[in-house]
Parts: sequence; C-alpha cells; structure tokens
Amino acid sequence: MRIILFGPPGAGKGTQAKLIEEEFNIPQLSTGDMFRAAIKNQTTLGKKVKSIMDEGKLVPDDTVVELVEEALDAPEYANGYILDGFPRTVPQARAFDERLKKKGRKLNAFISLEVPDEELMKRILSRGEGRSDDTPEKVKVRLEVYNEETAPVINFYKQQGVYKEIDGMGTIEEIYGRIKAELTAG
Ligand code: ADP
Repeated sequence: MRIILFGPPGAGKGTQAKLIEEEFNIPQLSTGDMFRAAIKNQTTLGKKVKSIMDEGKLVPDDTVVELVEEALDAPEYANGYILDGFPRTVPQARAFDERLKKKGRKLNAFISLEVPDEELMKRILSRGEGRSDDTPEKVKVRLEVYNEETAPVINFYKQQGVYKEIDGMGTIEEIYGRIKAELTAG
C-alpha cells in the first residue's frame, strides 16, 4: 500500500504515520526526519538545509525530490510506504507522480488531516520537542508557507481521485480510527 499522509505543520502526521506503520506493516518515510538527521550528523545535505529549516521555509524541490527518489529505491519500500511531509509543493507532487508512472505503480490513498490554524499553533507550541523551528514566529511562517505552497497539492490529488479528507481533531485514537476506516474501506 502506498499512502501520502498530508496536512499542515502540527496536524499529527508523524504520530498517525507511526500507528499506520505498526498496524499495516508499511514503513514511514518522513522528509522532515531525514533532514533533521542530516543536520544532526552534519552531512553536506544537513549543512545545506539547516538555515532554510530554521527559518520555516521549504527546502528546494530538486533537493527534496532527489532525496526521496533515492530513499524509495531501498528494498524496504518495495512493497509500499507512508510518505509524511512529501510532496509539499505541486512540482514535488508532479515529480512523484512521474516516478510512480515510470514504475507502473499507483498511489492507494492521499490522507489529508484537517485541523484549524489556532489549534495547530497550540499543538506545536505545547509539544516541547525542542525543535528550533517551533517558536511562535517560525510557526507563523510555516503556516503561511503551508497555505501558499503546500495546500495547492490537495487539488492535484483531488483530480486523481485518491483524496480523502480526515477530521484531525479529537484524540490520537479517534483520528487513527478514522484513517483506518478509510484505509480498510473497499
Ligand atoms: P512540520 O510538518 O511540523 O512542519 P516536518 O518535519 O514535516 O514538520 O518539516 C520540517 C521542515 O523540513 C519544513 O519546515 C521544511 O523546511 C523541511 N521540509 C520537510 N519536508 C519538506 C519537503 N517535502 N519540501 C521542502 N521542505 C521540506
């Protein structure tokens, strides 16, 4: 099963991806986690993306696409995956779509977690993960970037008929229950 877990910063993509991963036995691939690991390990990629991430802006499309393409070539993703944080722009969605076509694969679901902006800000500021981009100013930038550059991705997948909207308010279990129902429905 190939799934995209989509939503604004703080929507709970990472949390829900882990639950899907456990139950359905498909690995999660988070571009944010990959970038944070690269920064921690001070790799060339890490040095390139650090200041961009710290500002709350997006890493350039070609850099992200190359990273994801390479990662997905690993055998562990051969039977499916959950994408968390990618695609985040329409060009990224187009590049990913090209890749699927080339491989003769289909996307099973595009799960969009819907959460109001005020709640997102609250969740991020209270999660206390110590991320350098989790300050009120940076979150504001990230939400703006989401609305301008990332939200248009929704239309791309609506046109493909795989778009599923999920209410992202409630307990973690409630939200997961909604996702599971979508993934197991016909
Ligand atoms: P969140 O969804 O809470 O913003 P992520 O971990 O998904 O957190 O992303 C953190 C940061 O990593 C983003 O603000 C951006 O700078 C960078 N990033 C992650 N994924 C992408 C992507 N697909 N394209 C561009 N930048 C990305």
